Amino acid sequence: MKIHEYQAKALLAQYGVPVPQGEVVFYAEDAAAVATRLGGGTVVVKAQIHAGGRGKGGGVKVVKGPDDARAAAGKMIGMNLVTYQTGPGGQKVQRVLIEQGLKIQRELYLGLVLDRSSERLALMVSSEGGVEIEKVAAETPEKIFKEFIHPGLGLTAFQARKLAFALGLKGPQVAAAGKMMTALYNAFIACDASLLEINPLIVTDEGTLLALDAKMNFDDNALYRHPEFKELRDTSEEDPLEVEASKYSLNYIKLDGTIGCMVNGAGLAMATMDIIKLAGGEPANFLDVGGGANAEQIRNAFRILMADTGVKAVLINIFGGILRCDILAEGVIAAVTELGVRVPIVIRMEGTNVEQGKQMLKDSGLNFQTADDMGEAAAKVVAAARRGASG
Ligand code: ADP
Ligand code: MG
Repeated sequence: MKIHEYQAKALLAQYGVPVPQGEVVFYAEDAAAVATRLGGGTVVVKAQIHAGGRGKGGGVKVVKGPDDARAAAGKMIGMNLVTYQTGPGGQKVQRVLIEQGLKIQRELYLGLVLDRSSERLALMVSSEGGVEIEKVAAETPEKIFKEFIHPGLGLTAFQARKLAFALGLKGPQVAAAGKMMTALYNAFIACDASLLEINPLIVTDEGTLLALDAKMNFDDNALYRHPEFKELRDTSEEDPLEVEASKYSLNYIKLDGTIGCMVNGAGLAMATMDIIKLAGGEPANFLDVGGGANAEQIRNAFRILMADTGVKAVLINIFGGILRCDILAEGVIAAVTELGVRVPIVIRMEGTNVEQGKQMLKDSGLNFQTADDMGEAAAKVVAAARRGASG
């Protein structure tokens, strides 16, 4: 789960991370009052969307005084912001952060992520902050410094100092950086984050260190431990079909191809996508109904699959274990009867009550294609999608 910059900053502040003063507004009329509360001087109006690169896309504006803050907020709210992270479609701005304008001496980078190969959290810093860190990593990787954190020891003082020196910090800034890194690490652990990125971490003209931007993602599997994070979710930033799927505990990921896939279990989903590609097709999504889906979930899964206009044919590939094949057939028949079929459907199933399931599909009088193995199913669905896409 992703959250907005202003939410991440509020959360990080609770753990002692220094952040600029600011307030979020949903209406331009409220921007002037916030600018006045911040002292009436220079403020920065920042579009709150779940994507970075806002500065270059026109989503970060430095303005003077309450009137200009209101005007800038008015222009930004409702605009479609396109950045290199949103994709060409962009993202509609619905809230903006009004923040104190700071005088920046240096822009640094700090990131905290799980490094799977060392099985530790990696704390990364670079003196090249404010810009796309992907570019620094590709072109000048020697400018990125890393420390791997032992889960038993946590971030040690000497690791933090090493990174602070690598950033060229001196005197009291070394201690300030150490304190900030520890606070960020503590926040990461306590919140079950999956990613934390401060880009830029700034040194102001006065020599103070602040987190000027903040990106924080949470581990979805640990969200049950944080009921308080529920209200931070902004579903308008997520794919509408993915949001709909999450309501029924279905794992749905939108992809770019033409073949809708309904599968049970992530392993079978991976194998199904591989075999579709091998047969020359492209999956339109990854829809995993899970091991123990009931007929109602199958019906909803089918409705979500059909709502994606990119889908030209559907492959249902189910191994009937806990989810029996007759239950699957019941759900699919109900969904197709209710929604109508606008594209060909190929069904391949194996396992518990498979004969019964196949008989139900046959008796339904609906136009399903069936296949006995995955290779045959993939070939049939790819051919069907081609006919659908050209016709
Ligand atoms: P993004 O990463 O989405 O482009 P940032 O929050 O990193 O957005 O802002 C982009 C740039 O705008 C920063 O690198 C910094 O130069 C400037 N900036 C952002 N917030 C402030 C602020 N409060 N005061 C002064 N400059 C700012
Ligand atoms: Mg940034």
